[in-house]
Amino acid sequence: MKTITACTMDCGDACSLVVDSESKSIKGNPKHPFTNGFCCKKGSQYFNRINAKDRIVTPLMKQDGEFVPVTWDTALETIATRLDHARIKPETMLHIHGHGHRGILGMASSLFFEALGSSTTYGAICDNTGITACMRDFGQLDHNDPQDILNADRVINWGRDLTRCSIHQLALIHKARKNGTEVLTISPGGDGTPEFSDINIIIRPGTDRFLAAAVLKLYLNSGDLNPWTLTRTANWPALQGIINEHSLSELCSTCEVSTTDVKTIYEWYVDTGNVATIIGWGLQRHLFGGQSVRFINALALVSGNIGISGGGSYYNISSSRNFGSWKHLLKGNNQATAPPAANCSFRTSAQH
Ligand code: SF4
Repeated sequence: MKTITACTMDCGDACSLVVDSESKSIKGNPKHPFTNGFCCKKGSQYFNRINAKDRIVTPLMKQDGEFVPVTWDTALETIATRLDHARIKPETMLHIHGHGHRGILGMASSLFFEALGSSTTYGAICDNTGITACMRDFGQLDHNDPQDILNADRVINWGRDLTRCSIHQLALIHKARKNGTEVLTISPGGDGTPEFSDINIIIRPGTDRFLAAAVLKLYLNSGDLNPWTLTRTANWPALQGIINEHSLSELCSTCEVSTTDVKTIYEWYVDTGNVATIIGWGLQRHLFGGQSVRFINALALVSGNIGISGGGSYYNISSSRNFGSWKHLLKGNNQATAPPAANCSFRTSAQH
């Protein structure tokens, strides 16, 4: 019997999969526009993985420095006893959660620890930083349709290793290049980006906002700013002030990119035609990473590439964005008996 389901891996492609439980085969759904009939080996080998002989299916407990198999009863009782000791008050138990599988079950740990009365963190140390940056810039989590990249004249791939992050976006880039779209990649190097890039520019990790500011500085120097675009921005004078505080050579030396390469990026944005910007999932993990995403978004906006086909700034749209808050699942008995959650929040890079 064939079933259509979705891949549960922590992967932005979120493949639609056709699973044949009799022949134990898994294929990408040919009717899904983005999956387009293919998936990666992690998806197609699911059956092998769950049936693998070396898969751990018994709880292991560390005793005298060694992991030893124990029964499920022993494991669950140990966990329950320790959690009971820890949940004296919200401050004594902190639930740290991140991203990963974005299905409804991804919310299970939050529900569980909320019911136990744990405190938790605000934001996350991974995608949320860039997501928050994009929401502050554009007011909501959205970007051009992935297929719209085929309408771009040029693509600036700012830090995404598509060979590892998204085989489907890579397939679209290959198709776009066959139709004449050019690709410029900015990355710290050591990744798979040269295979699909016309130009590669190496940057010092964590300094992306300085490079974007350097390109914005060339816009300011040339006076080539679209007044219509600027009327659609908030706080442009403040951003302009920040950029004016630094010289071009200062910005270039901080990100270790030559002025020649900065001019190349500027020319790619300023030339006629539409430019799509893809922002990597990694540059936001540095200190002030949210600011890096915001400076790149500002560049996409100032160059007139937001709100048009073939342009846009692609960062991330969470596949769970329409699930709403998981808190409604606590209604009823659980909520009545659950101790109040602590109002404890930790500063994360999302807040920079
Ligand atoms: S590309 Fe692979 S890991 Fe990513 S969603 Fe598709 S099957 Fe899953």
